[in-house]
Amino acid sequence: MKLIPLPQALTVSNKDFLTKPYIINNIIAEKVAGPEGYRLDIGSQGVVITAETPRGLFYAKQTLTQLEEEYAEQLPFVSITDFPRYAYRGFMLDCSRHFFPIDIIKKQLDIMATLKLNTFHWHLTDDQGWRIQLDGFPRLTEIGSKRAQTAGDGKKVEGFYTKDEISDIVAYCADRFIEVIPEIDLPGHFKAALAAYPQFSCNQLEITVGEGFGISPDILCAGKEESYEFCYSILDEVAELFPGRYFHLGGDEALKLYWLDCPDCQKRIADCGLKNEEELQGYFMSKMVAHLNEKGKTVINWNDGMLGGNIKGDIIVQYWKENKIGREVAIKEAKNGRKVIISPFFSYYLDYPYGMTPLKKTYNYEADGAITDQVIGLEAPLWTEHIEDAEKLWQQIYPRLVALAERAWSNKKDYQSFLTRLDNFNNILNRYNILYCNNPNPYLLPGKLATLKFFIKALSRVEKGNLNAMKKTKEKLKNKYNK
Ligand SMILES: [Zn+2]
Repeated sequence: MKLIPLPQALTVSNKDFLTKPYIINNIIAEKVAGPEGYRLDIGSQGVVITAETPRGLFYAKQTLTQLEEEYAEQLPFVSITDFPRYAYRGFMLDCSRHFFPIDIIKKQLDIMATLKLNTFHWHLTDDQGWRIQLDGFPRLTEIGSKRAQTAGDGKKVEGFYTKDEISDIVAYCADRFIEVIPEIDLPGHFKAALAAYPQFSCNQLEITVGEGFGISPDILCAGKEESYEFCYSILDEVAELFPGRYFHLGGDEALKLYWLDCPDCQKRIADCGLKNEEELQGYFMSKMVAHLNEKGKTVINWNDGMLGGNIKGDIIVQYWKENKIGREVAIKEAKNGRKVIISPFFSYYLDYPYGMTPLKKTYNYEADGAITDQVIGLEAPLWTEHIEDAEKLWQQIYPRLVALAERAWSNKKDYQSFLTRLDNFNNILNRYNILYCNNPNPYLLPGKLATLKFFIKALSRVEKGNLNAMKKTKEKLKNKYNK
């Protein structure tokens, strides 16, 4: 029996079989296996699926599909009781750095559903492109969704999702029991928005949508009152399109070079009795969080966006940054009772080469013992700075996302059996015409070489101005705070 994710409990008979055509009975009952769980019984009576919810029935059907894939005409008699390890099982797609059309996203959602993943985190805005149409601020897409080129390649990149397309994806997800989380990244990774509306930056200079990568100093001014109003209006319009419980506000990599010299930002820091620029970010984010909490949304923040330590409100921490500071933030927030989503850079970031992040590493990752009690789930992000087309996209996602899906669902961990079961799942990927990576655990030397090549190319596509800004910020912070 080659099921992915591995079910929690399973008994199988090797001598009794059910032959097609057979009937499928769906039963909703109490106390089966929790809100997402199910029982699947195949016997002389046919197929009987029992669950507490339609969602549970849906997941049982995904299991049945895999059984049919493996056994074709004759299903063995089997009894499966199944439920997820984590309530949050996610995948993130960056549609800013490169734009991916609706049909690609739908294909990915189809496969996510077969893997019993239940969360699609949609990274819609960044320095290199604003991808969601809003009535209140038409220039966000008129200007912000277009860039002339990427790192001097001369090739235009543009595109955005209309409100109808967004609603179409939300409905498509609902049919597959997937919740969509929009991400509007604040106050950093906001350059595309500031290209459209420069009045909300500190220096109010005209800038273009980002054409290279790295961490940009062009971030939202958190001093001016108008910036707050601008963001509230954006969040209002976005929140209306997404009925889910969660809203992602980014918070990561906000380089505060201009905040350090901006009279408005410095006045806000003084007036509000804040210690430094990190606390200004915490102050700003707390306002945004309160605004969304009032609408019943729980906010998610990347862990490095919480360095100030003063963010208030209903927030979940997404643990991506694994350095000392990132880890300390996650542990501190977890100790304060905040929930954590696990997305470690070195194990779950699907945009990095297999030489750096082989399949085995993704599968075997274990969360830090200091936060495990607060973990609500796992998510694999795919950033697309260096992914221009669907072909490359599928290579990076599969099969690593299959490993994450299994660890997010199943309490059992068995890498060797996973590999044999993955063979069977690859048949399903084939049916979707997905060209997955067929060497996901490369040998050490070729793996290291491919990784080196990747980083040389990636570095060549970083904007020089961003590198200089990072250096300058460091110096200024050192001068100001003597550390
Ligand atoms: Zn400012």
